[in-house]
Amino acid sequence: MTRETPFSYACGRCSRCCYHKGISLNPYEVLRLARRQGLTTTEFIERFTDAAGTLLRQRADGACVFLGERGCGVHADRPLVCRIYPLGRRISAEDEETFSELEPHPQTEGKYGTQGTVGGYLHSQGAGPYMQAADRYLNLFRAMADTLFERAASLAPSEREEVGRRCGRPKEFTASETDWLDIDRAVDRYCRERGLPKPAEPERLMELHVQALRMWSSNLTEEEEP
Ligand code: SF4
Repeated sequence: MTRETPFSYACGRCSRCCYHKGISLNPYEVLRLARRQGLTTTEFIERFTDAAGTLLRQRADGACVFLGERGCGVHADRPLVCRIYPLGRRISAEDEETFSELEPHPQTEGKYGTQGTVGGYLHSQGAGPYMQAADRYLNLFRAMADTLFERAASLAPSEREEVGRRCGRPKEFTASETDWLDIDRAVDRYCRERGLPKPAEPERLMELHVQALRMWSSNLTEEEEP
């Protein structure tokens, strides 16, 4: 599906889609949710996420940690995958954007139709800034991965094995190694090192985060210090 494909969806507020889902997060989404809770991203990652801030935590019954009796408790700042549900968005290696319909819950009360378009649905859900943020981090993380692959090529086989083992277990990263997921931690460090005031607006914080990671990542090939 593309943005022009006929599509419509009316949520039935049954909340069934908020159970047993791996809700993925990027640093911007963590920031929006953290500020909603009055927390730093470092605190939020610790209290409400798994896999070092890349997944929203679930309760024992499989419900999202933010599902309340009246539905989503963070609706205005909900992540992109929740905004565009029941659509999934994919960006190919060639930067081509496509969408697909996700498998509906067997008892969903949502109503599917073709009265609008995919693009209209995205707009109605306020997905624009979230898609822009997702694309920025996707491009950044691709560039960081390229840098790491280049660096890995120069490691001894045993060192490569150790890096691969730890990458498969994000909880084993030390706090300073998660700067790439934790905006407040990274921007605090970036601003402190440069004597800069730390901005408050989420978009400006994301800008500085991306800038810091690009710089630290490009230095990796020349310096040992991340
Ligand atoms: S963030 Fe809100 S919409 Fe998304 S899974 Fe959690 S409760 Fe549901």
